[in-house]
Amino acid sequence: MIVDCHTHIFSPEIISGREEHVQREAWFSHLYGAPNARMASARELVAEMDRCGIDRAVVCGFAWNSFDLYVETNSYIANAVSRFPDRLIGFANVPPLHPKALAELERCLDLGFRGIGELKPEGQGFDLADGASLKPLAGMAAENGLPMLVHLSEPVGHLYPGKGGTSPRKGFEFASKHPGIRLIYAHWGGGLPFYELMPDVREALSNVWYDCSASPYLYRPDIYRVAIDVLGRDKILFGSDYPLISPERYIQELDSLGLREEERNAILGDNAIALLGLEKA
Ligand SMILES: [Zn+2]
Repeated sequence: MIVDCHTHIFSPEIISGREEHVQREAWFSHLYGAPNARMASARELVAEMDRCGIDRAVVCGFAWNSFDLYVETNSYIANAVSRFPDRLIGFANVPPLHPKALAELERCLDLGFRGIGELKPEGQGFDLADGASLKPLAGMAAENGLPMLVHLSEPVGHLYPGKGGTSPRKGFEFASKHPGIRLIYAHWGGGLPFYELMPDVREALSNVWYDCSASPYLYRPDIYRVAIDVLGRDKILFGSDYPLISPERYIQELDSLGLREEERNAILGDNAIALLGLEKA
């Protein structure tokens, strides 16, 4: 069973209103201002999953400015999950500091969402290292056992749209302050796995998993072997960031590496099945 733990979908209405959102929404224009940046609906995602042999996918929305667009997108995701209940797993997104954030999250919980994210600190105007103001959201995630997918990025290297400045250090601080939340740090945690070679850091990050989303744009394929050697195979999750990159490309990359079968299975599905409490197909 293959589980893609990091995809993004938009409603057909938002896709067709793309130009209007580019005018009004700063972070959206940053990522989708270029006409060749792809957007996908739930139906397109499921078609791509069928084509690539992906069984299930976590679906996320977007880091909007407008609170109403969060509500609209969360509702679209809930509807998509109800149309494809065996394929899609909904993650809710809210701007963590908004006065109505927790109420919206409550609504999403009632709708059957299974996690929170992808949180994008720069796009959503908060600082991941700011423990005090994130406490209410973190508390709710911990109480309800909701894993939280968070965008981190490399403090070095080339710039790209949406990179942001949420560094491994901020990810470390947040995870160590909130050991009760299971965290998925996107994009290999911006390089945080390297520091898990330090025993105290490893201990503090026992609640953190890492996804490989955007890996083909960022790292040589050797990253998988290195990450398995540093972290062990249980903390690594397959996430494509579709439609940014097709899941197919990751599977080809993984299959070129000669990983052991149990390592491949852990990354492509077993770890996500355990983390998200999914039924094994
Ligand atoms: Zn991201």
